[in-house]
Amino acid sequence: MPRKFIVGGNFKLNGSQSSLKTLVEGLNQGDLDSNVEIVVSPPFVYLDQVRKTIRKDVAVAGQNCYAKSSGAYTGEVAAEMLKDLGIEWVILGHSERREIFKETDEEIGAKVAHALKTGLKVMACVGEKLEEREDNRTTEVVFRQLAAIAKQVEDWTNVVVAYEPVWAIGTGKVATPDQAQEVHKAIRGWLKENVNAQVAEATRIMYGGSVNGGNAATLAKEEDVDGFLVGGASLKPEFVTICNAKPRM
Ligand code: PEP
Repeated sequence: MPRKFIVGGNFKLNGSQSSLKTLVEGLNQGDLDSNVEIVVSPPFVYLDQVRKTIRKDVAVAGQNCYAKSSGAYTGEVAAEMLKDLGIEWVILGHSERREIFKETDEEIGAKVAHALKTGLKVMACVGEKLEEREDNRTTEVVFRQLAAIAKQVEDWTNVVVAYEPVWAIGTGKVATPDQAQEVHKAIRGWLKENVNAQVAEATRIMYGGSVNGGNAATLAKEEDVDGFLVGGASLKPEFVTICNAKPRM
């Protein structure tokens, strides 16, 4: 079975009721390829607005959620609450969560496991920092991050891996198609060895890091690039171009 191309838009800490209304209207009018799965991820407080107004063939994701269902965890949002709102996806382990909010590999593994148990689909982010790449430690880091997830996850059906080199996020410095393909292939190899061949073949691996309307089509040609996770450009009209980067079947 071919892997369905998937494009996520991570709005991060951006947007207002009014700007997201405009953004949703643009997507609702866009000519989107029905063979591509599209997921947008606004800040928590706008999830309901976006979910209620966006076209039904575009899904909505939370940008994070906690590994507990409820309790004295001020400021946190539970996977169950996202489900209650009709949200289908969550992004977990984004490098900004890892770096700024000091989330550990283990915490991310626990969040992924809990979100899956709740019935959410997960975009699980992994990726190396510049100094780690320069030290030839890219796969060591990515495999360590994957292992922490695999330790707590049995069923990979609802997991998409997002390979996001930290040096490429929000920097305008996109990985070359060769660099992306090399790591995506390594991730698939790791899944084959450490989970199983079926999971390796079926699991989609998105690339994230300065994807835009100009570079998406070339990256999309790579064998193991099954989609994109897009930050900055997902807030712009060119997001439609990125969603349509894979030639239509
Ligand atoms: C991201 O935040 O996941 C991301 C890839 O950001 P950008 O596209 O802006 O580099």
